[in-house]
Amino acid sequence: MTTTSGAPGGVTEAEWSAAAEAVRGLAPGPAGDEVQLICHVNPDGDALGSMLGFALALRKQGITNLRATFAGDFELPTPYQDLPGTDLLVPEQEAFHDPALVMTFDVAAESRLGDLVRLLAAPCVVVLDHHASNTRFGHVNLVAPRAAATSVVVDALLGRLGIPLDREMAECLYVALATDTGSFKFDMTTPEVHELAARLIATGISPGDISRRIFDTRPFGAMKLAGEVLERATLDRSAAAGRGMVWTYATQADLARHDQRPYILDTLIDPVRSVAEADVAVVIKETVQGDWSVSLRSKGAVDVSRVAVALGGGGHRLAAGFTGHGTPQEVAATVMAHLDANLI
Ligand code: AMP
Ligand code: MN
Ligand code: MN
Repeated sequence: MTTTSGAPGGVTEAEWSAAAEAVRGLAPGPAGDEVQLICHVNPDGDALGSMLGFALALRKQGITNLRATFAGDFELPTPYQDLPGTDLLVPEQEAFHDPALVMTFDVAAESRLGDLVRLLAAPCVVVLDHHASNTRFGHVNLVAPRAAATSVVVDALLGRLGIPLDREMAECLYVALATDTGSFKFDMTTPEVHELAARLIATGISPGDISRRIFDTRPFGAMKLAGEVLERATLDRSAAAGRGMVWTYATQADLARHDQRPYILDTLIDPVRSVAEADVAVVIKETVQGDWSVSLRSKGAVDVSRVAVALGGGGHRLAAGFTGHGTPQEVAATVMAHLDANLI
């Protein structure tokens, strides 16, 4: 496979050049070609940051007939509400009907597009992603499974297009990179990741301010809620052939009692996965009654992406998710039943 030097692996030269041509061929200006950018439902820092970073780059190139969106409730987690480029975001109902180009960011599968899946009928769909489980649903698929974040793929495409980073684009891409590397702690934090972070910081962004805003600020009620959810965690040392699994859950009623929004639960996986006695960590979050968004993490003994795929979801080897049904105890038992078959 031919790859472009400096670009993340797993993408052919033909794909990089097809993606660049799709962008270069766009008619600019307010009456120019319609471009619809989409990230995954319940967007996280990588989904929003990589999409908005690229949106800002397009706008700077004069591609201004441009909208960015995601399926589901049009609500951003508070920490992301001030990201540069949020003025380009529209609710899914206001997405273009017949755009010339659709680009997706951090979307591993069609199911993560919700009702926006209809836009895959566009004449050109370019997928930018880093999930090994990506189903390659675009005409052009820039899928780099070893990239730490989708923002790495965005940076490579910007390089290919000759678009220099500015401070606003860099803030978006930094949020994306810092989110998906767990603030530069996870295994895929390579020299290339730090090199990209260095180029982003060199634009003048403030990593301290950004980290405080994105990772280290939460409402009092969220802290109290976290206390309750962690208190009810269960450790099963015999799970995963003796490697252990720790799990907990949070209900809609828990959120309501503390007057908190669902995204607040997404960081709870971090204290849970720090438990020394368990390789596998699971947080089971109620979305609608009886439906649960399940976060899976492993320290290396289990390929949780295979567990997630077996249960209808997806993700990475050590971080994955799926939608569960039933009681939290039933969801935990289902996960546990899939661990032994997916030991690494
Ligand atoms: P999370 O636990 O929500 O942080 O997700 C961990 C990883 O699993 C991310 O890379 C997600 O993209 C992926 N993931 C989570 N839920 C799903 C799902 N229902 N379907 C496919 N991938 C998912
Ligand atoms: Mn994501
Ligand atoms: Mn990502």
